[in-house]
Amino acid sequence: MTATTDDEATRLFTAQFGGEPDGVWSAPGRVNLIGEHTDYNDGFALPFAIDYRAVVAVRLRDDDRVVVVSTAGGDPVETSLDALDGSRISSWAAYVFGIVWALGEDHGRDRLTGFELALHSDVPVGAGLSSSASIECATAVALDELWSLGAERASLVLAGQRAENTVVGAPTGIMDQTASLFGEADSAVFLDCRTQEAVPVGLGFAEAGLEVLVVDTRVSHDHATGGYASRRESCERAARALGVPALRDADLDDLQAAFTDGRLDEETFRRARHVITEDERVLETVRTLRSAGPRAVGELLDASHASMRDDFEISVPEIDAAVAAMRAAGALGARLTGGGFGGSAIGLLPRERVAEATAAVREAFAAAGFGEPGITTVSPSPGARRDG
Ligand code: ADP
Ligand code: MG
Repeated sequence: MTATTDDEATRLFTAQFGGEPDGVWSAPGRVNLIGEHTDYNDGFALPFAIDYRAVVAVRLRDDDRVVVVSTAGGDPVETSLDALDGSRISSWAAYVFGIVWALGEDHGRDRLTGFELALHSDVPVGAGLSSSASIECATAVALDELWSLGAERASLVLAGQRAENTVVGAPTGIMDQTASLFGEADSAVFLDCRTQEAVPVGLGFAEAGLEVLVVDTRVSHDHATGGYASRRESCERAARALGVPALRDADLDDLQAAFTDGRLDEETFRRARHVITEDERVLETVRTLRSAGPRAVGELLDASHASMRDDFEISVPEIDAAVAAMRAAGALGARLTGGGFGGSAIGLLPRERVAEATAAVREAFAAAGFGEPGITTVSPSPGARRDG
């Protein structure tokens, strides 16, 4: 699936700019196996890099022009290095220009020179697989090498986050870039969002005959932004009431006591309970993967879904239908993945059940009158790298 994508980036490069690029780099999208809404609570997450990638073909120029073009269409977008001052940019070029700005801040603007970049990506857009971070990370590793910056990958993660927060204007954490930069084949990235430590954890899906199915409901609710903000507020309120820096530092006994003595209302209590138990489920998933293997983590995925649906209240009927259909078709576990209010669900399935589960989800959606979902399998893949 990805073997030819570098050719497409290079083909576009040559058609657009003439000649050959200095090199070709790629970075993957990601899916989160477990650990939702834990990032801004200083907690844990367990994403993995997937076998869908953004590929960039890049060549330095000897002036200060930056020109980018994508196989997704549209005219090339052009700017000068001087113009990149961290202002908001509305086109897709923000993901590239944001990285240029962030690297200039980190390493000094005198280290930057102009370049031409052609992008080809097969990461589905807006499906919760982080097509955005894959562009940032492919660009970051390319420019780090071409400009001889010698940046640590952890600092590229933060450059990607700043690009997305400041230049794109999306209030995201570090999970997407961490997975894209630190992913390894057949492994997840165990991320501590407080320390930013990223540790690979073997998944062993292929050996165990397992596949991860992603169902993109293509539903995006209008209240997603407001819902996200209100969940963040609930978490901050709960941490304040408990007298801890973040919910990462609280346990269920503290939470129960605060509810019992009236420091927390019922809704805030339930929302905090999701975060506290979700952190515990991530830790338990890592332990289980190491001790018992991937077939044993299904129940944790199911419990995560129930917590998001009942306590955190971020699921929607389309997601619940996808989860139910995958389970009925033999999934070991299934859950909402991503921020919620729409988006995607994942299921961990024996390989021989994938076709049945795919058909079951389609049937369930048709029967309920939902729009057609996008369905694909994803496998844990290597992170950002040079390809050519
Ligand atoms: P997600 O990261 O979940 O896929 P986002 O909304 O964060 O969704 O990022 C999607 C945006 O990334 C698109 O609107 C577009 O600006 C940009 N993008 C993704 N893939 C491409 C591509 N192949 N070419 C140009 N822009 C792209
Ligand atoms: Mg994104």
